[in-house]
Amino acid sequence: MKTVDHWIGGRTVEGTSGDHGPITDPATGQVTGRVAFASAEEVDTAVAAAKAAYRAWGTSSLSTRTAVLFRYRALLDAHRDDIAALITAEHGKVRSDALGEVARGLEIVELACGITTQLKGELSTQVSHRVDVASIRQPLGVVAGITPFNFPAMVPMWMFPLAVACGNTFVLKPSEKDPSPANLLAELAAGAGLPDGVLNVVHGDRVAVDSLLGHPDVAAVSFVGSTPIARHVHATASANGKRVQALGGAKNHMLVLPDADLDAAADAAVSAAYGSAGERCMAVSAVVVVGSVADELVRRIRERAEKIKIGPGDDPTSEMGPLITRAHRDKVASYITGAAAQGAEVVLDGTGHTVEGFEDGHWIGLSLLDHVPTDSDAYRDEIFGPVLCVLRVDTYEEGVALVNASPYGNGTAIFTRDGGAARRFQLEVEAGMVGVNVPIPVPVGYHSFGGWKDSLFGDHHVYGNDGVHFYTRGKVVTTRWPAPSDTPTGIDLGFPHNR
Ligand code: NAD
Repeated sequence: MKTVDHWIGGRTVEGTSGDHGPITDPATGQVTGRVAFASAEEVDTAVAAAKAAYRAWGTSSLSTRTAVLFRYRALLDAHRDDIAALITAEHGKVRSDALGEVARGLEIVELACGITTQLKGELSTQVSHRVDVASIRQPLGVVAGITPFNFPAMVPMWMFPLAVACGNTFVLKPSEKDPSPANLLAELAAGAGLPDGVLNVVHGDRVAVDSLLGHPDVAAVSFVGSTPIARHVHATASANGKRVQALGGAKNHMLVLPDADLDAAADAAVSAAYGSAGERCMAVSAVVVVGSVADELVRRIRERAEKIKIGPGDDPTSEMGPLITRAHRDKVASYITGAAAQGAEVVLDGTGHTVEGFEDGHWIGLSLLDHVPTDSDAYRDEIFGPVLCVLRVDTYEEGVALVNASPYGNGTAIFTRDGGAARRFQLEVEAGMVGVNVPIPVPVGYHSFGGWKDSLFGDHHVYGNDGVHFYTRGKVVTTRWPAPSDTPTGIDLGFPHNR
């Protein structure tokens, strides 16, 4: 059985707290290893390593940083399969999905390779007599990232490549459920020439997280995870004077208008609801159908969902893998059994599904619930499993009102052939990311990712321009270089004005 230890100061550091958590293969249900849980003292060691590295890295040249990032990009590209294999082994998602996750993470490394352009600053010359003003952005120092289980490579890569490109040093606390990809990402960064201590990984649970949130040498915290923990992280780190961005959970709606291409909408609903077994913060979990096409759309979704092959992630024929833990599988199942009692029609029931030869895996089949009441648990809660709720409304206005009544506002989509309706939806819907005939509108690396309402606490989205702003602080320098012939300005106690 393997042990996953911390990565501090450019090397593997054995956990000393004596506390460990299990690593499980979700396809077999077997424990395959253990991960060290950091104590407050071990977190302190990681922050101290990052602080020491910041002294040189924070003032390193842009060409030094980008040279490392270009080498890192090449190394990651060469190790896509290794990273994906670790993701599948500990998370359970199918290999194609794991490779997709790595590819989307790589986009942010590519963005970071172009940090020279992002950090150019602004200069205004001659704002007053012989006076110039420059706006520059500088790194924050040591920043921390706390990440969820569902994207063990991509979400850390949303954070640290940009943070270090901006000149910060980083302490990552990945999910304890699938910790290995983070260590490989850090090892590859060292191989690319990232100096020791610039990127550190500490593993653990809330002890490690709370130690980072309270640490005086941590300047900023990026968090991605569930809404209750995002709220806790935002409140605690803010109270401790840190800059915080805390991305939370979601309940993403897809509004289907009667004029939509129903085959395209059904394909999109199935891909977005059941991909990664619904364990995506951008998963479509509620389809809101306007008008009389609802029966036909439900029929087409069901027809497609019934054909999805469920199996271990490393079997190339599998389209959907298991859930992360047995406890999570049982919780997801409880929503399906509870839905009928709360008034929904169970069109497809995924409970009780097993896979031959893998009977102890965390399996659940695809579930489709129709006529789901808005006050039912299946609709209100983020289930985070392969469960799609269908709700029916009579008009576009009713549909938008329903979407906007959700406390979450991560992603949303509209399916229609009517450009005017799509445009109206973009402006009226209360969510951070909107798709028009695109079910999972995860922005590309050079735009930013983030939700509204209970899906994000803080002012900055991750990556893109927002990421650069989050990981830097502004400074404005006003300069006067008088010419030898200038007469002295003399004393003037009035508020300075430009002339
Ligand atoms: P989680 O909130 O349980 O855990 C996230 C991180 O917080 C982990 O590193 C975990 O160790 C830590 N943590 C857990 N409990 C804690 C506590 N009590 N105190 C301090 N730290 C704690 O989330 P998860 O189950 O790993 O991930 C799934 C959730 O993440 C879903 O809600 C999903 O929607 C959300 N998510 C959101 C986004 C987004 O961009 N908005 C992206 C991916 C996942």
